[in-house]
Amino acid sequence: MVSDCIFCRIVAGEIPADVVTSGERVIAFRDLNPQAPTHVLVIPREHHETVGALAAEDPKALADVVTVAAEVAAEESGGSYRLVVNTGAAAGQTVGHVHAHVLGGRSLGWPPG
Ligand code: 5GP
Ligand code: ZN
Repeated sequence: MVSDCIFCRIVAGEIPADVVTSGERVIAFRDLNPQAPTHVLVIPREHHETVGALAAEDPKALADVVTVAAEVAAEESGGSYRLVVNTGAAAGQTVGHVHAHVLGGRSLGWPPG
């Protein structure tokens, strides 16, 4: 656990979150500032900074992130959804613990901003 990481602290139960589902390797909870009717963050329990690092260091956890994202979207938005992993400050990553945004429940524009 990284003590100054808010998502590690959510995993540890130190910061409350609206948890949607929780498993051995991943946890999913609602985004504090939702951008769509469904806006859920899926994260590995262990701290990895980026999706590339997660793929290299724990590919099973990455597979679980994607599987749980699909399950959440099936449950909440009929299986139509966008899975976004912002990586690096210029791409909008503000939390340095890899997280996949599951966005759905409305029509989503393309290209993204
Ligand atoms: P990023 O900009 O890094 O791709 O996404 C970070 C996301 O985390 C943002 O959408 C933001 O609203 C969300 N977020 C930041 N702090 C918290 C928190 O303490 N709890 C929850 N549930 N979401 C958070
Ligand atoms: Zn962390």
